[in-house]
Amino acid sequence: ATPAATMVGTAIGARNGVLFKGGDVLERVHEVDTVVFDKTGTLTKGEMELTDVEVIGPAADGGTLKPETGRTEAFVLEVAASAEHASEHPLAEAIVEGARERGIEVEDPDEFENVPGQGVKATTRHGRVLVGNRKLLSEAGVDTKPAEERMDALEREGKTAMLVALADGANESSDPDYRLIGIVADADTVKESAKAAVSGLRERGLGVWLITGDNERTARAVAEEVGIDPDNVMADVLPEDKADAVDELQSNGDQAMMVGDGVNDAPALAAASVGCAIGSGTDVAIEAGDVTLLRDDPADVVKAIRVSEATLQKIK
Ligand code: ADP
Ligand code: MG
Repeated sequence: ATPAATMVGTAIGARNGVLFKGGDVLERVHEVDTVVFDKTGTLTKGEMELTDVEVIGPAADGGTLKPETGRTEAFVLEVAASAEHASEHPLAEAIVEGARERGIEVEDPDEFENVPGQGVKATTRHGRVLVGNRKLLSEAGVDTKPAEERMDALEREGKTAMLVALADGANESSDPDYRLIGIVADADTVKESAKAAVSGLRERGLGVWLITGDNERTARAVAEEVGIDPDNVMADVLPEDKADAVDELQSNGDQAMMVGDGVNDAPALAAASVGCAIGSGTDVAIEAGDVTLLRDDPADVVKAIRVSEATLQKIK
């Protein structure tokens, strides 16, 4: 585009809450074939709420837990919340908040480790705790099968279900004997304009994808809600693998726009032909992006594409 057209396009964008970082970005937006949305915080509000707490067992217990550790939902939630108290993940904050609302006193863990894209490991007054996805627990040697039916049911409702396992705290060995004790689930709400964003892009003939670290069933439930083809869902993608997934989509010569909000998404934003950071996103995401959508609105992706089209048509 001519410098004048670029200036006009950039100004119109800015007036509509769409910030383009430089004139070449306007041209690249115009060439995009595929738009990839992150799920949490991008298509969904990212405001998680605790919805379910379930006890798993006692068959899964093996009888090794101390007798005072009653198998109640309140106990499962107390254990999960004490481990998550040290985490800033939206999933964790919802668990802690949900526990407090239910009158549970949440204590800080003695030790805490965040396992990105999987969950948390902590030592609490109840013992050593794992809260996270199937991968986190199976890698710690926990059989997740007893929870599978319930996990499946919760995920089909679009919820993020997390497994809770506990090992005796007295045993400080590096290889704790974890027992599955329950499930906690959080739910998020899809943003009102997510559906309009997806249909607006599809009408323009663009491919629309969903990428997430969340599991397949939850991801598909959200995809269905916003009108993304279930075949265009990339689930269980670890933060460090999101960029590779974007590269793969572009390997056939397609130009992808990645839309994301989180620290997790920065490498994928950089890998995409156009990285688009959404409103309430982290500074890291905004820095890695070529376009910033100031409002928290996924439909502004369509606006960005329209502005770039208008800008480039002016010079033809
Ligand atoms: P997203 O890509 O949707 O932003 P993440 O990559 O942060 O999600 O996390 C992927 C998955 O790892 C979550 O769906 C959850 O199952 C698990 N997980 C991540 N952090 C936590 C946590 N603090 N507590 C429990 N589970 C977690
Ligand atoms: Mg996210």
